[in-house]
Amino acid sequence: MGRVFVAGSINMDVVATADRHPRVGETVAGKQVLYFPGGKGANQAVAAARLGAATTLIGRLGKDSFGAELRTFLGDQGIELSYVQETTDAHTGTAIITVADADNTIVVIPGSNALLSADDVGVVPLVKGDVAVSQFEIPLPAIAAFFQRARAASATTLLNPAPAQSISGELLALVDILVLNETELGFLANVELSESDETARIIDVARQLQAREDQAICVTLGRRGVLALAGREQIVVQGRAVKAVDTTGAGDCFVGALAAQLAEGAALRAALAFANAAASISVQRMGAGPSMPTAAEVAAVLK
Ligand code: ATP
Repeated sequence: MGRVFVAGSINMDVVATADRHPRVGETVAGKQVLYFPGGKGANQAVAAARLGAATTLIGRLGKDSFGAELRTFLGDQGIELSYVQETTDAHTGTAIITVADADNTIVVIPGSNALLSADDVGVVPLVKGDVAVSQFEIPLPAIAAFFQRARAASATTLLNPAPAQSISGELLALVDILVLNETELGFLANVELSESDETARIIDVARQLQAREDQAICVTLGRRGVLALAGREQIVVQGRAVKAVDTTGAGDCFVGALAAQLAEGAALRAALAFANAAASISVQRMGAGPSMPTAAEVAAVLK
């Protein structure tokens, strides 16, 4: 059994709820303030760990109260944290979210996440069978160094290029499995994609992006499930018909679950079906971290 290594962001999400959003220059009385552990890296690590994978997170926290709280929370999830450094040069990554009128505004301050360096990830002890996971909320040079190290150790590299930003051909070539949603696929391939696009069109766009013949491109399609181009093979996993109450973190749950399965030695097709089931459970619950299912819950759905 391999290990899941996630190099990524760790944030505290601070959520203020109010009856309405303030106008510019205005102050309104709010109703509640809530604190949620977040950041794509942390969410994906929580998903993998809750599913039973041995999971190590690589990241940066500030030496402050949010940093201390996040370390306690992540440790309680069974995540190995010896590669999460603390810095006094920046505050812990924070997202300030205002929720009112069933709509939200978000300001994200990357803080300490922006200081994760190639040196931090260069020491991670990856071996064959491990899965190295990253996303775009940490500096790209750190991701490149992490994946170079993983490939040198014959570990599998998995990139979730979210939030979307341009990717160099060099970094893309280091990726074994790319997991992205339709919007991110459209952005990276520089084409317009819409909900009504047929399988053939999405596969065609994925093929344009494929950097190596043995690379897998997995496109998550929300309630419609997931489509993958694995080398020349196409894999279609239908979405599960469920009553979604909150899709926040569905993509992160999918990525963490996929990594956990691959580290267990599952083939891509089976791992995608598992991740699709795991993410369909997460959308039926509120929040990101707290909505991640256990392996027993996913097994019950797949029976
Ligand atoms: P988010 O940004 O909301 O975390 P995303 O855009 O990265 O999500 P999606 O494609 O929306 O990713 O969802 C990821 C996976 O979650 C889907 O491939 C599917 O397996 C599952 N999923 C999402 N929404 C639903 C839904 N309404 N019903 C069933 N499964 C869903």
